Amino acid sequence: MPKMAHQRTYLMLENYIGGKFVPCSRHLDSYDPSSGEVYCRVPDSGTEEVDAAVNAAKDAFPAWSAKSPLQRSQILHKLADLIEAHLEEFAQAESKDQGKTITAARSMEIPRAVYNFHFFASTILHHTTECAEMDHMGCTNFTTRTPVGVAGLISPWNLPLYLLTWKIAPAIATGNTVVAKPSEMTSVTAWMMCKLLDEAGVPPGVVNIVFGTGPRAGEAIVSHPDVPLISFTGSTLTAQRIRERSAPFCKKLSLELGGKNPAIIFDDANLDECVPTTVRSSFTNQGEVCLCTSRIFVQKNIYNQFLERFVESARKWKVGIPSDPTVNMGALISKEHLEKVKSYVNLAKNEGAKVLCGEGIDSLEVPDKNKMGYFLLPTVITEIKDSSRCMQEEIFGPVTCVVPFETEEEVIQRANNVKYGLAATVWSQDIGRIYRVAKKLHTGMVWTNCWLIRDLNLPFGGVKASGIGREGGKDSFEFFTEVKTITIKH
Ligand code: NAD
Ligand code: MN
Repeated sequence: MPKMAHQRTYLMLENYIGGKFVPCSRHLDSYDPSSGEVYCRVPDSGTEEVDAAVNAAKDAFPAWSAKSPLQRSQILHKLADLIEAHLEEFAQAESKDQGKTITAARSMEIPRAVYNFHFFASTILHHTTECAEMDHMGCTNFTTRTPVGVAGLISPWNLPLYLLTWKIAPAIATGNTVVAKPSEMTSVTAWMMCKLLDEAGVPPGVVNIVFGTGPRAGEAIVSHPDVPLISFTGSTLTAQRIRERSAPFCKKLSLELGGKNPAIIFDDANLDECVPTTVRSSFTNQGEVCLCTSRIFVQKNIYNQFLERFVESARKWKVGIPSDPTVNMGALISKEHLEKVKSYVNLAKNEGAKVLCGEGIDSLEVPDKNKMGYFLLPTVITEIKDSSRCMQEEIFGPVTCVVPFETEEEVIQRANNVKYGLAATVWSQDIGRIYRVAKKLHTGMVWTNCWLIRDLNLPFGGVKASGIGREGGKDSFEFFTEVKTITIKH
């Protein structure tokens, strides 16, 4: 802790277990990314706290799972309404805690957290199961679906409440109870939501939130014998550890991991739409979205034209303090992460690549009190090899690479030439080409002539190192329930 610590008052978070706020004996410092100062203390929970949360969730399970879908639906709608009623407070808190712009938090993320609850409150009313007749055997077969039990939910720091509620909502809608852990770097909005659970009618123990680090609190959840299901969103490396730690228990796993998402831009693309959308897809949320574009392949005959327009737009993408409603980009999550992102830019330079704008090229103006904030300008790299770590590894910051290609076949092969397979974007007016390319890309999702448009009914998730499992209306229902086939002889 800094020397002056005793003179300051910090926001103090507490765990939420069995419907009560419970103090923790250990705490972690949490930083304001826009100033680099500690402003919040987060419980540093371990096995003891996780055990208490799992017990509370187990106790709450029989009554919660016995409620009708309509009863649970009404509670979820109420919770959504309560979050919405406090939308501005949540948005301010998310922006301060994470470094994202107040505009993103206010107009996109907190509204989406609200919608996650409304959405699953609705879908839970509409599921049916299968039936197969076998008259020749005198039998009818059908399936039933039941909640799995205590769900362990672990979420990352980039879209804190948005991604946490994307897990909590389907988990409890289907009748499970949960033990959830947000990132230790972005715990505030989850803690704020706990204050609304009782008023919404969520019974004690149905939603338990334990704060802390991955190695302590996270692993205690993952390796708990009474948590049969883990839904995890985060990095590929952590997912590997989770698979190892959960392996002895044969848990149900959903893993939403990193990406190295290509944008493929053919020479017939509508650049008036493509350029601004690709700037957005590269730099939204400081480039800290798993779906952000970080490899831009442009067909050779429009390469120079695209690059010029792209760099010009990237330079206009305004970086500033997160609370300023006119900025496009705020601060990165942490000092360590900022250093990591910068190290990729240096690596590219050392390899002989060209940095066209951003880090090391342009200068950034922020107020004095924000000089220690974790800011980085949108950075565009070119003349870089596909084999460079900058073209292979997830940077997860406002850094994107632009390279030329000649043929359709070539670009498909190069786009697929990474370990990740989350999403891709294809720009062309030729519907035949769009279809062929989309079919051949090894990714879970492909956007054509647009980016980030999502219907929550449809599956979301990646292939290869980007994960296993899908989430969405039907997929989340299936993941958070256990199916059983019953045969009746009549
Ligand atoms: P991370 O893997 O470091 O952490 C994610 C969560 O896991 C945090 O809550 C962390 O505390 C916890 N954790 C860490 N180690 C753990 C362990 N050993 N056992 C259990 N839990 C552990 O990821 P991050 O840095 O917070 O988030 C960024 C990553 O998340 C990026 O790779 C990004 O692509 C990915 N992401 C993926 C999606 C998606 O839907 N595919 C969405 C957002 C972010
Ligand atoms: Mn924070």
